[in-house]
Formats: sequence, C-alpha cells, structure tokens
Amino acid sequence: MSNGNKSLKKFFKSNNFIGSYKSVDSIPSFNNISECCFIGRSNVGKSSLINAITNNKKLAKTSKTPGRTQSINIFNISEGINLVDLPGYGYAKVSKVLQNQLSDLVQNYFEFRSNLIHVFVLIDIKVGIKNSDIDMFDILNNFQKKFSIILTKIDKCPKSFIAEQNTSTLSLMKNYNNFFSNLFYSSAKTKHGIYDIQKDLYALSLDS
Ligand code: GDP
Repeated sequence: MSNGNKSLKKFFKSNNFIGSYKSVDSIPSFNNISECCFIGRSNVGKSSLINAITNNKKLAKTSKTPGRTQSINIFNISEGINLVDLPGYGYAKVSKVLQNQLSDLVQNYFEFRSNLIHVFVLIDIKVGIKNSDIDMFDILNNFQKKFSIILTKIDKCPKSFIAEQNTSTLSLMKNYNNFFSNLFYSSAKTKHGIYDIQKDLYALSLDS
C-alpha cells in the first residue's frame, strides 16, 4: 500500500456522526469546518457510498429510520471536513407536502450554509439521469454551487454501458461548465472508485 493510500485511510478512519438537523438555522457553525454534501434520488446508494468512503458500515444507516432520512445528517472526518447527507429526492412514498418541505430544506441548505464548499450529486448508473436530477443541476447552477457527479453501483453494468453513460453525462455537463467539476464512478460493493472520491474529498479539505 502506498504512503498516500495509507494516510488517506487514516484520515477517513477517524469519523463520527455529529448530528441530525431539521432546519439549516439549527446547524452549528462547527468552527467553520468545510462541508461537502451528498444528494441524489432516493435509493441511489448514498448511505452505502458514505459508509464505503469512511470504511464504516454503520455510519450512514443503510436501513434508515424515516426521521433520519428527512433531515440533514452530518459526519465529521478527522476534524478536517464534514460530510453532509442530504435527504433524497424523487421518493414516491412520501407525500407531496413532505416532498416540498424536504426540497425547501435542501434549497435552504444550498442558499444559506456558508460552510458548504462542494456538492456531490449521485446518479444510479443503471437508472441514468432523470428530470429530477436535471432540476437539481439547475438549482445548483442558480445557487452557483460547484458540483461533481458520482455514477453509483457500477458493479451492475458492463464496461461498454459505463462508457456510454460517461459520454452522455459529460455531454449534458457542457450546459453546466461554470460549476461542474468532476465525474466519478463508484461501487460500494467492490469499492471501485472509492479511492478517487476520498482523494478528492481530502484535497477539498485542504483547499478550504
Ligand atoms: P440511499 O437510499 O441512497 O441511501 O441508498 P442505499 O445506500 O440505502 O442503497 C439502496 C440499495 O442499493 C440497497 O439495497 C443497497 O444495498 C444497494 N446498493 C447501494 N450501493 C450499491 C452498489 O455500489 N452496488 C450494488 N450492487 N448495490 C448497491
């Protein structure tokens, strides 16, 4: 194992759940530690990805309690950066009223949370980009937030399909080139791509 790989492992090994918040106002400033948030359609693999990044199977509960999925959950990594789990969107089982409340919570977070430095939008590679994802890119564009895309669950697809999704995603991102940064791939199952995401998060923690 390279030294870089070892120190990254060490960095992410020190992780803990800080809290669950139902409004942006109630989130403390945490001494202005920078935050990177994760968002995507429900079932996209967000919890599994956060667990894979931190190598902690229990951190973001994959078997989620309803209360926790409707709030902003924050995890600290080595006092260097906070990872923020935002409520998923496009969840058919929650009422329109609740969907609107969740959407307000997320938009308030983008608009008012000054600790936020980068957004990771997760897309299930097999499902592809849907209208609700495009709405999310537009929101991020409006709030002038830098974002990256993570195509998740790549263990489910052949390489040729991954290549097709790569081309179409990058083509769409030409419309967002002021704020789009990187395209990542991940499998929480095989851990493919996790190292690249960890490297990026670590670099973001140093930048800020
Ligand atoms: P969330 O709702 O976005 O937090 O999604 P979860 O992390 O709970 O994952 C939703 C479902 O997808 C679960 O059944 C996971 O086991 C599965 N899943 C998540 N990530 C992967 C992955 O990388 N590969 C495969 N094959 N399944 C995954």
